[in-house]
Amino acid sequence: MSQDPRQALIDGALRLVAQGLTAGLSGNLSVATAEGIWITPSGLAYDTLSVEDIVAVSREGTVAPGQRRPSVELSMHLGCYRADHTVLAVVHAHPTSVIALAMLGEGLPCVTDSLAGTLGGAVPCLPYEPSGSTALADQVASAIGAHPAVILASHGLVTAGRTLDAAIDLALLVERTATSYLLARACGTVHELPNEVALARRRFVQERYGQGGSTPK
Ligand SMILES: [Zn+2]
Repeated sequence: MSQDPRQALIDGALRLVAQGLTAGLSGNLSVATAEGIWITPSGLAYDTLSVEDIVAVSREGTVAPGQRRPSVELSMHLGCYRADHTVLAVVHAHPTSVIALAMLGEGLPCVTDSLAGTLGGAVPCLPYEPSGSTALADQVASAIGAHPAVILASHGLVTAGRTLDAAIDLALLVERTATSYLLARACGTVHELPNEVALARRRFVQERYGQGGSTPK
């Protein structure tokens, strides 16, 4: 990452708010670098953050003294990096339509070509565990390798990616798809893409989309 990871996190947090993916003090973001993990602080408004507020943490979770207190979801972020070494950024947000699904305890079925091309399947909903708990961290860590986007029952969304932008793009895709899905479901029967079709779309996008190495939008 050529940019200061601390500034990248501030820019990413402001993008989350600007795109309606979270509001107020909710949500948290982190990135992994060769030096360790960088994560947003607990309970500070994103639009007040300066680079000194971003917290440096070792991969084992040690927070050097003299820093802000890290997000209460630190162990969830660390668990994602431990579970899948290709993950270099983790985003946790509270988007409105995803939360509607989370309230129902439902995942997001694979209902659009875009979702299929990006994920190759559905977004699961993990059973409720309290925010900040070890149980929630363990649950997300065991799912994130197979599912880079997961809905947390009665809570929100976690996405992971190779870059912070990719993790935020994925959160935006899941939220927009959830909005369309709920609208469609209110009007009639929603058609899900069969598993083999979703996987084929994912392979197609990996092999053919973009200019090489880019993430589908
Ligand atoms: Zn949360």
